Amino acid sequence: MKKSLLLGNEAIAFGALKSGISVAAGYPGTPSTEIIETLQRFKDRYVEWSVNEKVAFETAYGASMMGAYSLVTMKHVGLNVASDPLMSSSYTGIDGAFVIVSAQDPSMWSSQNEQDNRYYGLMALIPVIEPYDPQSAYTLTIKAFKLSERVHHPVILATNTRVSHVRGPVEYEEPSSPIFGKLKKKPDKYSLVPEVAKKNREEQLKRWELIQEEIKQFNEIEGEGNKLIIASGIAYSYVKELAPESMKILRISAPVPLNKEQIISALEGVDEVLIIEELEPIVEMQVKNIAFDAGFSIKIHGKDYIPRSGELTPDIVEFALKKFLGLYYEPKAIKIKDIPPRPPAMCPGCPHRSSFVDIKRGITLGGLSQTFFSGDIGCYSLGVLPPFQEQDSLTDMGSSLGIANGVYRSTGVIPVAIIGDSTFFHSGLPALTNAVYNNLPVLVIVLDNRVTAMTGQNPSPSREIDILQVAKGLGVEYVKEIDPFNLKESVKIIADATSWVKQNKKPAVVVAKRACALEVIDKFEELPIAEVKLEKCTGCTICYDYFTCPAIIPREDKKATIDTNLCIGCGACIPICPYQAIELKGKIPKGWDEVWRS
Ligand code: SF4
Ligand code: SF4
Repeated sequence: MKKSLLLGNEAIAFGALKSGISVAAGYPGTPSTEIIETLQRFKDRYVEWSVNEKVAFETAYGASMMGAYSLVTMKHVGLNVASDPLMSSSYTGIDGAFVIVSAQDPSMWSSQNEQDNRYYGLMALIPVIEPYDPQSAYTLTIKAFKLSERVHHPVILATNTRVSHVRGPVEYEEPSSPIFGKLKKKPDKYSLVPEVAKKNREEQLKRWELIQEEIKQFNEIEGEGNKLIIASGIAYSYVKELAPESMKILRISAPVPLNKEQIISALEGVDEVLIIEELEPIVEMQVKNIAFDAGFSIKIHGKDYIPRSGELTPDIVEFALKKFLGLYYEPKAIKIKDIPPRPPAMCPGCPHRSSFVDIKRGITLGGLSQTFFSGDIGCYSLGVLPPFQEQDSLTDMGSSLGIANGVYRSTGVIPVAIIGDSTFFHSGLPALTNAVYNNLPVLVIVLDNRVTAMTGQNPSPSREIDILQVAKGLGVEYVKEIDPFNLKESVKIIADATSWVKQNKKPAVVVAKRACALEVIDKFEELPIAEVKLEKCTGCTICYDYFTCPAIIPREDKKATIDTNLCIGCGACIPICPYQAIELKGKIPKGWDEVWRS
């Protein structure tokens, strides 16, 4: 047994390794990414970043059909993308063991919503296991695999930001040998033609009954008294810290499904109940149903004391606990003052900043006085902010082209769809196919920085597959590449593409190709640096107010100066200055240009 400080996500990876996984797949998404990153260090099993969550799901699901032990990981919204095979997997069951990690993001630190995926468990009839700290993330992952193996059914492991990204002491064992599958064909189980699906439905319901029995072991009653706290997932950690020691607590580590007898036994002799759970009242709903059917007449509090949105915090739990116990609660008076607000910003040297400048100038020159910027999910979503304001919508992965279609069909305004390389391969492809098929006049700008940068530099298919060729293959007639740092040429090409779309009423694709700045600086020890020649600088403000590289700051006399701690010497600001006042100094390292363009 080893003991280390591990992230919850690393603990899940070690739990999966101990369980004998041989195949793991995922799509990067905060807060789930580090699970696959950790597994990639183990070369005796197959681990991949898939092109999207549905493909990742099907990869792991297919392996478990063959009897393998497999894992799929994604953030909560990813399960929407994978929800089709998710529903089928519950009908067919599996032969090996299959765990689906869905990492939720309450409070939306890095997401477009905070959906509670425990609902997917209720809808799909798939049990949900919910860890409450890194150690439980390890042990419950192993238990989830054991459950899946015993009942031949997929299991969801639902974490959240606080469990996935907190570091804590974890006792763990060495990985077990990977359990691979063997070719077996079972069309009467896995081919969901109506006849098989009808039979499977009966079997699924039987498995669900078995799961309700098995699930008891994940939950535990401790303490005693006539007041009961039911705490699910991360709520249990807060309750253990804040509740009186002898209090009766039912720890729920498997919120879906609850076991009827276990809940009835916890409610016996209790006058009042407080259910603490993050986001939706999943446990509350089930407990109230069970209590009602069993004839209990107990006051059950839940979402009347605990908010339905946002992360749980010790403060929120303490407030609810004190209210429940009839104790006085003094709100914490600690307030952090004097921290200036810092809006999120693109990194110094980010090629997207230059692309946004190029796009605005190019489309104006190409004759688009008014447009709709149909954005997408990725670092470039920061283009929603001033001064660029080039993301009029960004709703879900790959949505830019679909939304653009709706905007054009309803208004006749030619839209500009902006999508990243990873997102293009994730789910932009079908929408581009649709745009070609239905003659959508749209200017598509693919921002190709060669990585899925937002989640931590995970590889993107664009490293191996040329987006220009893909677009051509789909039938796009106008396809060109630009270097976003080459302002003059980029503006000219975008202007040309815009006029072409207007004239031909068909889609055009421009790929803005330059590496993510964080990738580049990782590869060099010494970087050049930009310098403002003050004698040439007129204080026009363009470089800091309009271009907004965080390394460029205004002086009191309005002239610009460069923060040498932030500047990475990318040179993108040089063509922006109309007075040629910015120059690069220092040695350009060997291979500099090649890495930026790789
Ligand atoms: S764009 Fe050029 S002239 Fe204008 S403030 Fe910046 S460095 Fe000075
Ligand atoms: S060279 Fe210019 S654009 Fe690049 S990081 Fe430095 S100041 Fe910013």
